[in-house]
Amino acid sequence: MNCQYCQSTCTKAGKQQNGMQKYRCQSCGKYQQAQYQYAACHKPAHELFLKCLKAGNSLRGIQLITGISVNTQIRWIRKLGRVLKPPQAIRLHDDYELDELCTYVGNKNKRRWVISAISRTTGKVVAIKTGTRTAQSLKVVIDKLLSLSPNTIHTDRLIAYRGLIPEHIHRVKVRGINKIERYHLNLRTHIKRLNRRTICFTRRIDMLNHLVRLYART
Ligand SMILES: [Zn+2]
Repeated sequence: MNCQYCQSTCTKAGKQQNGMQKYRCQSCGKYQQAQYQYAACHKPAHELFLKCLKAGNSLRGIQLITGISVNTQIRWIRKLGRVLKPPQAIRLHDDYELDELCTYVGNKNKRRWVISAISRTTGKVVAIKTGTRTAQSLKVVIDKLLSLSPNTIHTDRLIAYRGLIPEHIHRVKVRGINKIERYHLNLRTHIKRLNRRTICFTRRIDMLNHLVRLYART
């Protein structure tokens, strides 16, 4: 058998507790198996997991479909979330829409928001932040937009925006944020924990943060 990391030759090296043959690479010394029993160790499992995740499935739902345990899925999401770079916007002087999506973490009293901004021309997310709906959180997203020297920024009538966005580029027209509201509807449909009127909810804010960023990137 050839090593799955460096393609060198492997030799037999004892057995696993479940009776599967173990191998050890002669060159890099890593232990491995020719076949794995656990579904998460199969090569296409990772891609299937990501597809299921973006199709409105809960982690427990994905466990039923693919056999990958919830704990493994959480570990994968954290790992992906940590290496994820912030969304890149190349266009300058664009029109942007900014809005907040309300959800809760842990219990209904602990309200948290997904604050995101999208470009009107490309429809792509340019900045995203999860947390409380304070001027501090809004400022993170708005500062990112202002660094792109925008033509206009469209928002709802939240008072906190007035002090943060320069008046000459700020617009609060009726139906001015249709595009971003539609994007938030996508989030609510495709991320199970954001579905309304279900018993699914986020227990930790960092998971929500990873998931919305993961969704925005792909
Ligand atoms: Zn090797």
